[in-house]
Amino acid sequence: MPYEFACADAGCTCNASWSESSPDAVVGKVAAHLQEKHNVKTISGTLANFVTSAIRKT
Ligand SMILES: [Zn+2]
Repeated sequence: MPYEFACADAGCTCNASWSESSPDAVVGKVAAHLQEKHNVKTISGTLANFVTSAIRKT
């Protein structure tokens, strides 16, 4: 599970984080989380790109 992202990386105060086997899987889960927990209605390309660039490879 080498691709990691934490909500805190995006400046959020919640402590959700993900560890997935592909960047796309991380982006998908982060997008669902933002819509559910942060009331983000639309996941823009800019946001998806930000998440992709912020993903840590471990
Ligand atoms: Zn969050």
